[in-house]
Amino acid sequence: MRDPFPRPAIHDIDSAQSLEAWIHALPKVELHLHLEGSVQPETLRELSRVKGRLERETEAWIRQQEERNFRYGNLAEFLNAFKLVSLLLESPSDYALVTERLLQSLAAQNVRYAEITLSAGVILWKRQSLPGTFEAVSEVARRFESVAPLKVRWIFDAVRQFGTDHAREVLGWARMFRGRDVVAFGIGGDEERGPAELFKDVYQEARNDGLHCIAHAGEGHNPAGMHQAIRLLKPERIGHGIAAARDPEVVQLLRDHEIPLEICLTSNISTGLFKDVRDHPMKQLWDAGVRVTLNTDDPALFATNLEDEFALATRVFGFGPAEIMTLCQNAIEASFMTENEKREFRTRLYQAACGPPGQANP
Ligand SMILES: [Zn+2]
Repeated sequence: MRDPFPRPAIHDIDSAQSLEAWIHALPKVELHLHLEGSVQPETLRELSRVKGRLERETEAWIRQQEERNFRYGNLAEFLNAFKLVSLLLESPSDYALVTERLLQSLAAQNVRYAEITLSAGVILWKRQSLPGTFEAVSEVARRFESVAPLKVRWIFDAVRQFGTDHAREVLGWARMFRGRDVVAFGIGGDEERGPAELFKDVYQEARNDGLHCIAHAGEGHNPAGMHQAIRLLKPERIGHGIAAARDPEVVQLLRDHEIPLEICLTSNISTGLFKDVRDHPMKQLWDAGVRVTLNTDDPALFATNLEDEFALATRVFGFGPAEIMTLCQNAIEASFMTENEKREFRTRLYQAACGPPGQANP
């Protein structure tokens, strides 16, 4: 049974500024976050400078993004950006560097638990060493955890359009590192070219191996892929899933199976799915009883972070402390923490929520 839901000291939160300070003080959870999408422009410059290659391309790309405020117009264009970043990550030490920077950014926002997606499929596609890369990033996380209150777990992600053999290879590595904080297997990429039905058996194998299963689905406007993903892959969470807003049957499935959605507001605007964030169906899905969590997806490539996403939800949907608490609580429940960890996290969340605004939880 869930802990009783305490009301935060709402009377103390009387302005947008104090609401933001209160949100900052909450220990937060992030569940949909790609390591490769977290590389800030400064780090991209640094990587290209050190390597002495792609310097001009990187600089031109960064200037172009800054001019258009990191809006891509469509998903294909964004995937090209993701590819450019991935190509600058050439060695385990490059991956270690960007992990360190990401963890610093999370800690600065008071994110205390993160499930970070490593595009294992992309590393294999680049013919780089996946075990070498994972050793490097997990070593950074372990070191960071020993000095900061941030727990990191990992999700290995396969590229759906690369097919089932590729997905099985990613799964094999996820299985290998299961004892090293790899908690889940997932797929991302092109839903049209890599439909869910292809991966039914791979997901079953992942479950048999004791891994959690998640999937990107319904990131576009077509809910058909979500039907398939829910029925065939049985994911414990769905990345995005906003297409559900166009199909009451999918909403019903999400409710019946208690599948949370990892909503990423700025991401969906930046990739051109909606012109205006007010058109985003997050609130509609929330009102329909779907369990919603809030995430950044690729924070550096969309010039956002988790605190900005919370602030956006307060401005656009009128979310106040009670709704923010529900979002935080949803993320704890939807995470792959142990039950003990969840209980402790909830306690810390409630303590911080009911303390004076702006005062960080010790
Ligand atoms: Zn994603």
